Amino acid sequence: MPTQKKVIIIGGGITGLVAAYALQELARKNQSPVSFTLIESQPRLGGKILTDTDHGFVIEGGPDSFISQKPWALELCLQLGLKDRMTGTNREQTATYILHNGRLVNLPEGLMLLVPTRIRPLIATALFSPLGKLRMGMDWIIPRKRTGEDESLAGFVRRRLGQEAVERLAEPLLAGIYAGDAEQMSLAATFPQFMELEQRHGSLIRGMLARRREMLNRTASGKGPPPGAPPATMFMTLKGGLSELVTALVSKLDQNALIIGTEVERIHWKSGLSTYHVRLKDGTAMTADAVIAASPAYVTADLLAETDATLVRTLHEIPYVSTATVSLAYRKNQFRHPLNGFGFVVPRREGRSIMACTWTSTKFPHRAPEDRVLLRCFVGGAGREDLVGLSEKDLVNTVRDDLRAIMKITEEPVLSRVYRWEKANPQYPVGHLDRLADMDDRLTRLPGLFLVGAAYRGVGVPDCIRQGNEAAERAFKYLTAQG
Ligand SMILES: Cc1cc2nc3c(=O)[nH]c(=O)nc-3n(C[C@H](O)[C@H](O)[C@H](O)COP(=O)(O)OP(=O)(O)OC[C@H]3O[C@@H](n4cnc5c(N)ncnc54)[C@H](O)[C@@H]3O)c2cc1C
Repeated sequence: MPTQKKVIIIGGGITGLVAAYALQELARKNQSPVSFTLIESQPRLGGKILTDTDHGFVIEGGPDSFISQKPWALELCLQLGLKDRMTGTNREQTATYILHNGRLVNLPEGLMLLVPTRIRPLIATALFSPLGKLRMGMDWIIPRKRTGEDESLAGFVRRRLGQEAVERLAEPLLAGIYAGDAEQMSLAATFPQFMELEQRHGSLIRGMLARRREMLNRTASGKGPPPGAPPATMFMTLKGGLSELVTALVSKLDQNALIIGTEVERIHWKSGLSTYHVRLKDGTAMTADAVIAASPAYVTADLLAETDATLVRTLHEIPYVSTATVSLAYRKNQFRHPLNGFGFVVPRREGRSIMACTWTSTKFPHRAPEDRVLLRCFVGGAGREDLVGLSEKDLVNTVRDDLRAIMKITEEPVLSRVYRWEKANPQYPVGHLDRLADMDDRLTRLPGLFLVGAAYRGVGVPDCIRQGNEAAERAFKYLTAQG
């Protein structure tokens, strides 16, 4: 008779919740006596995923969508029976703009990630100077880098496409994902596909064109998104906001296995007993055969303070930045801007406070009542974190000043919502993958401990879901191998 095995999961963000669900499913399918307890410090599950509804508005405080090219979020939604709740972005108004010399300029068509793949729109755009365009075209002839070592994202783009591509494309577009500094960000950890394209094709543009052909062939041969998925746009969401995903996940979990509103304080490894001793802030303690820590890296470091000093140091070295989102709604009949697109991003050199603005009620259906429009602005990030500390009133005014200057919006908002995310966005600086290798090396001394979540192997919701699934599989394998 196999003995009962217990896993403690720390953190009820998307990573921890997925780990719990996957573990529960593995135990059920294999009829294995593996159980879990998930502990979340906040009174609410979901972590960075937070949706508010108010008078017909659906307001996302954190993520508002997930990329469909990474299949894990789509697959999870289907698995949870959310197919009819999924929705894509507006197919009629797909333009994205970049602020350039104070004006909103359309991103040239044919841009894949950052790489131009069509000549005419590139020649026609006002975004780059003639010399800048020429420099981008030189990507065809610039030889590939010989060594495969990591470099910064800005360094890479500068080397292949030139300085204008760094300032006017890479920095503002990627700041939107990582809220980071492109000069510091690791290419290998954030966009390994760029390294691969350079090595395989000797040019980013040639590589992207080859990739586009592959994608078209795949669609023609029927190898697309997971079976049963609705027609996907690049970004997908749920009609009632991403919290629907959290609610659906939580409803499938054993409710007795959830401890909410209690902080984990310490994890101790009892090597003689091969168990973990987990102490909570409310004074309770519990033991487990395995631990999945899906808490932020700096929290996990503190939890392990008495367990492994080297691991603690490595975890503390993963930097985080703070951001805020500010949502503003207006009456449609008084609103003069056409909101003809998904929104815009703001290069640093423009000297504005906002990093980006999503025209939410155009980009997604079901976000605002018919007679209202909704916008969402991003503030903070690397080098601009002081803005996150402003009072709510000052933050709203700062955002409104920028919208007045950029979009000529002078109308009074009928609703404003501010969400502050302190130390919320983990950064992957150059060498991040070496840091993960050091971490994995230390973890060999702590069998049954798994560290997952946005701090490590992908910050987006799909990557967090993949990491949650993988942690459950690894924990399950580890426990069932013990008998
Ligand atoms: C403003 C913003 C916008 C974003 N937009 C997008 C987007 O559009 N698309 C996308 O794919 N991604 C987006 N992201 C990224 C994505 O939302 C996150 O990376 C992801 O949700 C993180 O999930 P996680 O479970 O790893 O961490 P978290 O959501 O941070 O969960 C960790 C959990 O651990 C809990 N915890 C902390 N300490 C303890 C403790 N001591 N004991 C117990 N529990 C503890 C926390 O309360 C939290 O609930 C965005 C992020 C932000 C901040």
